[in-house]
Amino acid sequence: AKQIHGCSYSIYRPGMELSNDKTAGLESEIMTALRAEQFVLFYQPRIDLRSGKIVGAEALIRWQHPTRGMIMPGDFIPLCERNGLIVPIGYWTIRQAGLHLKELKEAGIHIDRLGVNLSFRQFKDDMLVDTIKRIIKQEDIDTSVLEFELTESAIFNDENHVRECLDSLAEEGITFSLDDFGTGYSSFSLLHKLPISALKIDRSFVSHLHESSEAEEIVHSIISLAHNMKLTVVAEGVETREQLDFLIQDNCDQIQGYFYSPPVSFNDFKRMLPKPN
Ligand code: C2E
Ligand code: CA
Ligand code: CA
Ligand code: CA
Repeated sequence: AKQIHGCSYSIYRPGMELSNDKTAGLESEIMTALRAEQFVLFYQPRIDLRSGKIVGAEALIRWQHPTRGMIMPGDFIPLCERNGLIVPIGYWTIRQAGLHLKELKEAGIHIDRLGVNLSFRQFKDDMLVDTIKRIIKQEDIDTSVLEFELTESAIFNDENHVRECLDSLAEEGITFSLDDFGTGYSSFSLLHKLPISALKIDRSFVSHLHESSEAEEIVHSIISLAHNMKLTVVAEGVETREQLDFLIQDNCDQIQGYFYSPPVSFNDFKRMLPKPN
């Protein structure tokens, strides 16, 4: 049976239906992974382009599988979104990120923002807001640092419900960013209605800068839009000096990408941050 599960990972693609027994096997393996603490958060630094300093990070989950090695989120998160396991995984992620934040604070290290991805499926959980509030209390999480990253499709699914959830969490001091911006439904009215404080320009646009004038125009428009609305704009997936130069020229606020650093372990991230005096 193990072998079958192994295969189903590598050949799995979003939209492809796994047979029931394979899916069930995978589900129980993921539940085991949660209990056995096989998940781990990596951190990708967010750099402020004016100061050149790290101002935050995005938490990105990985599965350290005992026999298959490191499994990337693209290979299990889409499935977990469909079968609902993203709900317990999502809570694990928030708690773990909170514990890491506490560790930084205790070491006297400050960051402005820690991005944590929230999937559309998590909003289908009626307990979402209450559970997040409970985790925040239990772990004494500094909510002013916590920034949930949402995709436009997450919001589009059930706009009123999502707005209620976000408003309630915003009262706790949590901030929000729109992830993969430009790829979704891009309803500009959403930006007015929701407590969003940052836009993250999708990597697909950033990677085509200097190749496509269309990508340049899109990036340029998103940056102006963000600034007109007093939002912070973050470019994702910056890999080259040329992309960076374009973004500096265009007044982008922050970047994330391999050019500066890939996602790294928490301890490596901690070492990248300036020591307190
Ligand atoms: P995302 O939220 O858009 O995260 C950014 C992805 O781009 C990450 O992939 C990151 O490693 C990758 N990346 C960053 N800089 C570069 C670059 O310069 N070049 C290239 N080619 N890639 C870059 P990763 O870690 O594999 O995560 C993939 C997706 O999985 C994420 O996309 C997010 O949608 C999802 N995900 C990751 N962690 C979580 C989580 O804790 N919860 C939820 N719900 N989703 C997660
Ligand atoms: Ca993200
Ligand atoms: Ca993204
Ligand atoms: Ca994405």
